[in-house]
Amino acid sequence: MASILEKFVNRTEFESYEDFKENFKIIVPENFNFAYDVVDWYAKKHPQKEALVWCNDNGEERIINFKEMKEYSERAANFFKECGIKKGDRVMLTLKGRYDFWFSLLGLHRIGAIAIPATHMLKEKDIIYRIKKADIKMVVCIAEDGVPDCFDKAQEEMGDIPLLKVIVGDEDRPGWINFREKLEEMPKNFKKPEEYPSDEDILLVYFSSGTTGMPKMIKHDHTYPLAHIVTAKYWQNVREDGLHYTVADTGWAKSVWGGIYGQWICGSAVFAYDYDRFNPINMLEKLEKYDITTFCAPPTVYRFLIKEDISKYDLSSIEYAVTAGEPLNPEVFHKFYEQTGLKLMEGYGQTESVVSIANFPWMEPKPGSMGKPAPLYDIELVDNNGDPVDVGEEGEIVIDTSKGKPLGLFGGYYRDEDKTKEVWYNNKYHTGDTAWMDEDGYFWFVGRTDDIIKSSGYRIGPFEVESALISHPAVLECAVTGYPDPIRGQVVKATIVLARGYEPSEELKKEIQDHVKRVTAPYKYPRVIEFVDELPKTISGKIRRVEIRERDMKRAGEQ
Ligand code: ATP
Ligand code: MG
Repeated sequence: MASILEKFVNRTEFESYEDFKENFKIIVPENFNFAYDVVDWYAKKHPQKEALVWCNDNGEERIINFKEMKEYSERAANFFKECGIKKGDRVMLTLKGRYDFWFSLLGLHRIGAIAIPATHMLKEKDIIYRIKKADIKMVVCIAEDGVPDCFDKAQEEMGDIPLLKVIVGDEDRPGWINFREKLEEMPKNFKKPEEYPSDEDILLVYFSSGTTGMPKMIKHDHTYPLAHIVTAKYWQNVREDGLHYTVADTGWAKSVWGGIYGQWICGSAVFAYDYDRFNPINMLEKLEKYDITTFCAPPTVYRFLIKEDISKYDLSSIEYAVTAGEPLNPEVFHKFYEQTGLKLMEGYGQTESVVSIANFPWMEPKPGSMGKPAPLYDIELVDNNGDPVDVGEEGEIVIDTSKGKPLGLFGGYYRDEDKTKEVWYNNKYHTGDTAWMDEDGYFWFVGRTDDIIKSSGYRIGPFEVESALISHPAVLECAVTGYPDPIRGQVVKATIVLARGYEPSEELKKEIQDHVKRVTAPYKYPRVIEFVDELPKTISGKIRRVEIRERDMKRAGEQ
């Protein structure tokens, strides 16, 4: 089958990473629109080709081909238009893993309205914050998990602002429009508007995870989907007629990294498992049942999977597995490899970008390393003055934008010039992450720049210490932070959740400290250890070291 991918790239085959890095180019057609230019191409040329394979925990299943994807996204566009949604209007999508997410998102792309996906785990105050910040006109959300209640309350509290509320589910809820019912009434064809969205128009606004502070609104334009060719084809290694699965709620950017743009352009269908609660056994069953060919999940998910008896499942359909979002401890890499024969290919990126550093198919992964820079970006490691650091030295990861904004990099924080300027100045976008590069050109994550501990003149990255801690059997999860100390400035502190069967004790503290001294440079060992039942995390499950730090500062101030 002639592939659509060829329209958008200069070449598809490369001999080596170097060849790829130097020569790969994406061709951006004028006024590219993913819905018209990709979905409708498939609907015309390969209407029966599978786009989305969807299932949930109630045994429901739906397989949607491109003809249906076109049709339902056109119905959605007609519906939005009827509701008065125009180009540039903001619509929030809180749809968890429902297939309606794909219809709505593409429907909004057709109109040129701005989609703002958000997680269903938001509470009233988070919703108010988002509605105000982004001036949201409409919300499309699930009927469960108390989500509509939260929107109703938020609306009341805000003095009955005009917010159109659309619900996905069977409920006839007063004040709400029923999405699925409406869609069935809508005409199948949507006329492309004359005021057609152009390349610079905003396609999506995402809220970041909020690991370091209040979530930021990150805007991407209509060319963003094309940049995900790198994510899908060269990092996730998806293939024509494969079935790719990225574990992510549709409220996070990760879900479009792995659930639509790049995968479809590369001819792979995507899998969506709309589970109520994450359960590793159910997930393993789905991986087996649906013959997933390529798989992507955050390190946390792999940490849970390897605790199960993976050998009970036939996962032989999985050809390739990747991870990103948080650092991958080498321990997890090795265990997963032992159990499946698959080497986890780690990647690094942000909501602000597409995959930026990764282990690409030509490379032998080094466990614990994020890999090498992706071809779209000019990546550098710089010191506090913005000067490049030497091989082996730590520096902040920045993206050079002196030749203009590279494809797939965000266009700034939405309606927040000041915040944008804080991270993007002198033609460099500052990621806020610190890493070092080894002699082979592999990048090693050290920590978020704010999380780096400065103790007696040493700079200590939390990740390395956490990896050392996790290799002790008593440690289930941990976070390493700087703890205020009058003499050293800061000392290393480990906040630890113990594995089943272990009890906190002074002996255990000592044993863990000795273990760290043995497996890493002794000056990094945690002088302070606190055992806790759980770690503070973001809604997406990332560890919030900032919260531990603030708590400790407060305690120290009170003493
Ligand atoms: P916020 O910006 O609101 O504090 P966040 O940065 O966690 O939240 P995301 O955009 O979801 O929001 O996550 C990107 C961050 O995740 C990166 O900046 C980096 O700190 C971390 N990250 C992603 N991939 C990796 C990786 N492979 N290794 C280490 N850290 C990673
Ligand atoms: Mg961030």
